[in-house]
Amino acid sequence: MYDLIIAGAGPAGSSAARFAGKMGLDVLLIDKDRFPRYKPCGGGLSEKAISHLDFSLPENICERSITGARIRFGDRTINRHKDYRLTVTLNRSVFDDFLLKKAQETGIHAVTDQKVLDFREDGEKVQVRAGDETYSSKYLIVAAGSQNRLLERVRERDGKDRYGVCVVTEIPEKNEIIDDRLGNTLEIHFGVARMGYGWIFPHDGYYSVGIGGMAKELSNPRQSMIKFLRKNGFGGSYKLRGHMIPFGGMNRAIASSRVLLSGDSAGFVDSFTGEGLAYAIRSGQIAARAVAEKLEDDDLDVAGSYQLRCKRDFGEDLRYSLIMAKIMHSWPEMFFRMLATRDEFLDKFLEVPAMKGTYKNLIRWLMPRMPGYILSI
Ligand SMILES: Cc1cc2nc3c(=O)[nH]c(=O)nc-3n(C[C@H](O)[C@H](O)[C@H](O)COP(=O)(O)OP(=O)(O)OC[C@H]3O[C@@H](n4cnc5c(N)ncnc54)[C@H](O)[C@@H]3O)c2cc1C
Repeated sequence: MYDLIIAGAGPAGSSAARFAGKMGLDVLLIDKDRFPRYKPCGGGLSEKAISHLDFSLPENICERSITGARIRFGDRTINRHKDYRLTVTLNRSVFDDFLLKKAQETGIHAVTDQKVLDFREDGEKVQVRAGDETYSSKYLIVAAGSQNRLLERVRERDGKDRYGVCVVTEIPEKNEIIDDRLGNTLEIHFGVARMGYGWIFPHDGYYSVGIGGMAKELSNPRQSMIKFLRKNGFGGSYKLRGHMIPFGGMNRAIASSRVLLSGDSAGFVDSFTGEGLAYAIRSGQIAARAVAEKLEDDDLDVAGSYQLRCKRDFGEDLRYSLIMAKIMHSWPEMFFRMLATRDEFLDKFLEVPAMKGTYKNLIRWLMPRMPGYILSI
């Protein structure tokens, strides 16, 4: 009988396991894959995400330190460089494997290559069926990403207007060529898909190239991706991987009496940028803390406490990310013009991933200026 079982050893699950292990809980962490494993991702780890780690990130994990953004809309381009770091790029296979090891350092048990098939809340415990085994624990954290059936035992499956679909590929290239094309700049293409964008991110010896947009409106993501690749000079044949990405900031149930959802399973993703790593790490840590407190104090409402802590910690950021995404995708022309002509707007925009500003401040700045801009289009 474990104190806590965690389904999924991505950033949310490993962060939960590390925190729970540090607090002395008896933890079993289970993942369906053998690590290191591939995960479709742009590999951008923001300053906000880095700030949540309770250890420093080894230099060999950070592939590039990103200080610039290139924003493209149709045939127009804006370039901006800052004297501070916005994000680092990294390889998710390496990063997630590292996070798993950091969790194991605390003495937790980890099983990989074993899929959690089902679970059942049974009085004082949760029974978890994984591979050919059945495990029991007092609590369960589902941190199995957005594409699993387990989360549907706690919340409804998202409709097509509540998540995006992404297609991503990694394209090998010599670092000198990447340096010439992008250096330490992220390239973002607006106007590629509603509630989404296209990206070209520089890594160590490869680009991450992808597109994403609202599932309801991106009817043929692979075709859109091929068009995007060709338009940007990538003429080869590439392995394309699709994945869904929930829109954060929407109301969703995230816990029942013994089961907490964290990371993508809970829908914790920035709706404007698609950033999910910061919220996966943070919500995993918060979930572990909520369970540890419940084990100390049986009167505590673990679901309510978890929900409230997430709301206080990052609920506002996610809510405003959704508002920001809706503004941008309702008036893309105005949005781009403002970015192109108002230095202050782009500066405030770049401050968000760098943890120097918030969407809330950005929207407060934007609101009074919008009518004039809409009229001038
Ligand atoms: C194309 C794309 C690009 C992205 N780019 C970025 C980016 O640049 N920066 C950023 O911050 N975010 C990005 N995101 C979002 C980010 O990848 C996610 O928010 C993040 O991975 C969520 O972490 P997680 O731990 O919740 O889930 P995941 O990382 O999805 O981990 C879930 C884990 O659960 C395991 N699992 C699944 N089902 C089961 C099961 N039944 N039993 C056991 N194990 C199971 C999986 O094997 C996996 O290891 C991107 C997402 C996509 C799709």
